[in-house]
Amino acid sequence: MKEMLTSARKAHKAVGAFNITNYETAAAVLKAAEAENEPVIIQLYMRLFDSTKAYDLCGMLQRLAHRGKVPVALHLDHGATVKQAQDALAWGYTSVMYDGSRSAYDENVKWTKFVADYAHALGATCEGEIGHVAQGDETALTDVGEAVDFAKATGVDALAVSIGTAHGYYKSEPKLDIPRCQAIADALPDTPLVLHGGSGTPLADVRKSVEAGIAKINIATEFLDGYIKSSLKVFTDLNGAFVPPDKLADPIIESCAAHVQRLIKFFAGR
Ligand SMILES: [Zn+2]
Repeated sequence: MKEMLTSARKAHKAVGAFNITNYETAAAVLKAAEAENEPVIIQLYMRLFDSTKAYDLCGMLQRLAHRGKVPVALHLDHGATVKQAQDALAWGYTSVMYDGSRSAYDENVKWTKFVADYAHALGATCEGEIGHVAQGDETALTDVGEAVDFAKATGVDALAVSIGTAHGYYKSEPKLDIPRCQAIADALPDTPLVLHGGSGTPLADVRKSVEAGIAKINIATEFLDGYIKSSLKVFTDLNGAFVPPDKLADPIIESCAAHVQRLIKFFAGR
């Protein structure tokens, strides 16, 4: 992931990072990336690492990634424990996030550095978070000085910053603090920044954030919600008839891929 984010930042582009849950969602992301000829990040939320889901899916994801048409990173999203990060790297994920953003600063530094060192020893990438992107009501915008200290102390390859986005759907339009993002980027010219809570963020603000140093944009809710809605339509249209499920998957993948392709194209500045 490090290489793709470093070149994206230089080119004022961002790489899309999409949360997948199964074959259909993964195949849709890869199909979209191939159609746009852009690198892509396939990520799994940390909860899937607490069951066999992330382990079982990894074999399939490696097959998809090794098709070789575009670079693909396989990433643990919001790793909550050192064990999740170690498991992810042992199973074949190429990149891990350790999210200590709700802990005290020193604890966040300590464990993020531990995971970053561990990942680097295996040739993998590590993302950390400083400040806290809202989950419900709690939010803490990233302090510029703290971001610089954190990046230097931990050695993370990518840094998630809190500049006004939130996870999930918005109840009212978010206001992004672009000058804050720009100040962090200016102070950390070699660290690609990550925007969490990309779903539903106004596209004009997304573009400005990319110009201001964001090189990875996480999309979960709006992509997965689109998957549920297109699945619901396909299953409803069946009206009780029998069709082999692999055939049912095709229009769902098609619809999800079209959605992802629009986003990848936009993140690439086209
Ligand atoms: Zn997130």
